[in-house]
Amino acid sequence: MAFRYWCGECGFRTSWLGRSEGERQQIEHYARRHPGTPPGGHVEAGRSRDGGCGCGCGCLPLAVVALLLLVLAAACHR
Ligand SMILES: [Zn+2]
Repeated sequence: MAFRYWCGECGFRTSWLGRSEGERQQIEHYARRHPGTPPGGHVEAGRSRDGGCGCGCGCLPLAVVALLLLVLAAACHR
């Protein structure tokens, strides 16, 4: 499992990293870019290889799976 840390103040995000390394980079980014602001933003969890190319396309398969599950659930309730 890899994590990507998103800045809450600007568009910055780390690359896919381990949790402790990502946290460190997020904190470093805040110290450099937003001094005096406590680190915020959000953490994106994903896979480091196939899902983590860094261009955001890793979200697409997940969305498709979620959609399929919704369709299946709707079909079962009929
Ligand atoms: Zn920032």
